[in-house]
Amino acid sequence: MTNYKLLLLPGDGIGPEVMAEVEKVIGFLGQAGIAAFETEHDLVGGCAIDAHGVALTDAALARADAADAVLLGAVGGPKWAEVAYEIRPESGLLRLRKDLGLFANLRPAICYPALADASALKRELVEGLDIMIVRELTGGVYFGEPKEITTLPDGSKRAVDTQVYTTGEIERIAHVAFDLARKRSGRVASAEKHNVMKSGVLWKEVVTRVHQADYADMALEHVLADNCAMQLVRRPKQYDVLVTDNLFGDVLSDVAAMLTGSLGMLPSASLGAVDAKGSRKALYEPVHGSAPDIAGRDLANPLAMIGSLAMALRYSFGLGEAADLLDGAITDALANGARTRDIAAEGTQALGTAGMGDAVVAALKARIA
Ligand code: NAD
Repeated sequence: MTNYKLLLLPGDGIGPEVMAEVEKVIGFLGQAGIAAFETEHDLVGGCAIDAHGVALTDAALARADAADAVLLGAVGGPKWAEVAYEIRPESGLLRLRKDLGLFANLRPAICYPALADASALKRELVEGLDIMIVRELTGGVYFGEPKEITTLPDGSKRAVDTQVYTTGEIERIAHVAFDLARKRSGRVASAEKHNVMKSGVLWKEVVTRVHQADYADMALEHVLADNCAMQLVRRPKQYDVLVTDNLFGDVLSDVAAMLTGSLGMLPSASLGAVDAKGSRKALYEPVHGSAPDIAGRDLANPLAMIGSLAMALRYSFGLGEAADLLDGAITDALANGARTRDIAAEGTQALGTAGMGDAVVAALKARIA
C-alpha cells in the first residue's frame, strides 16, 4: 500500500473536535488495509496566532506544500476578533489557497435520502440531489485591481472592486468542470452574466470554445447567474456540474448548501493545477466555520469533515473505491438513524461528535464484513 502524506490542520473552535473523528476513520482505513496515511499536524488560524503571532507560519506552509494533501478543520472565533486585519485567523487560510495556487473550489451538494426532510425545500425537490459546484477561487472581483475606496472632491466616497478574468483563468476552471462531468453525467452548466458584464461575455466565449475543442461529446448549457439562483431553489436536480466565477460561486454554493439540510454535512475541495507528475496541490475542508457557539461540547457534526477526507481519497489519491466506501458508510450511518443535534428531529435523541464518528466507523466495518 502506498503511504500518502496528509497534513492535518485542525484549527480553532470545533475544528479539532471534527478532525479527531477523521483521525478515527484514517486509523480504521489503515488497519483494514484500505489506505495508509502518514499524518503530520500543524497550526492554522487563531491557535497559530496565539503560538506564533501569525495565522500560518512559513514552516506550516512548507509542510502543506510537501504533503500529498492538506485537511483543514476551521479557523476563527471571537477570541481573535480584535487582531489586526493582516494577521486575522482567515489570513492563514487565504495564504494556503493563494500560495498553493488552489484555483478550483469543488463543493458537492448532496441530499442524503435520510435527511431530505431537513432541507429548506420539499422532499420531492431535493431527494437524491447530487450537484457539484465548481467555483473559480483565486481570480475575479475579490482579487481584481483597482480595489479601493477614494474620497471625491465633494467629500463623499467612491468604492471600486474590479471583476477581472483572463482567458487562461477561465480555460483552466472550465477544464476542471468538464473533466469532473466526464466521470458523472456528462452535463455542465456555466453561470455568468454575459448580458451585462464584459467578464461574462469572455467567460461564455471561452467555456464554449473549451467545450467545442475538447468535450464536444458532452452537454453544455449557459445560464445567467441570477436565473441560476432561482433555478437552484425551483428545480435543483436539473443541474449536475455547475461552473462559475468566484463571486457568483460564493453565493450559488451557499444557496445549494441550504438544499442539503445542514452546514455540518458539506465538504469541499480546493485544487491546484496538475503538474508534470500528474499530481496537484489540494486542500480539503468542511464548508462550515469554527462554530464557537457549540465548540468544546461534543455537539459538532463531523460528517462534513469526514466527507472532506472522502474527497481527498477521490481527488488526490485516485482511491475512488475507498471514497465510495466512505461516502457509503456516511449514508448508512444516517440511514441507521445516527444524528447529531443539527440534523436530529426535534425531541429526538442525538449523538455527540465522537458518537457520530463511531457510527461511521461501525458502518465502514459493516460494509467490508
Ligand atoms: P459557522 O459555520 O461556524 O456556524 C454557523 C452556525 O452553524 C452555528 O450556529 C454553528 O453552531 C452551526 N454549525 C457550523 N458547523 C457545524 C457543525 N459541524 N455541526 C453542527 N453545527 C454546526 O459560521 P459563523 O458562526 O458565521 O462563524 C464562526 C467563526 O468561524 C467566525 O470566526 C468565522 O470567521 C469563522 N469561519 C471560518 C470558516 C473556515 O474556517 N473556512 C468558514 C466560515 C466561518
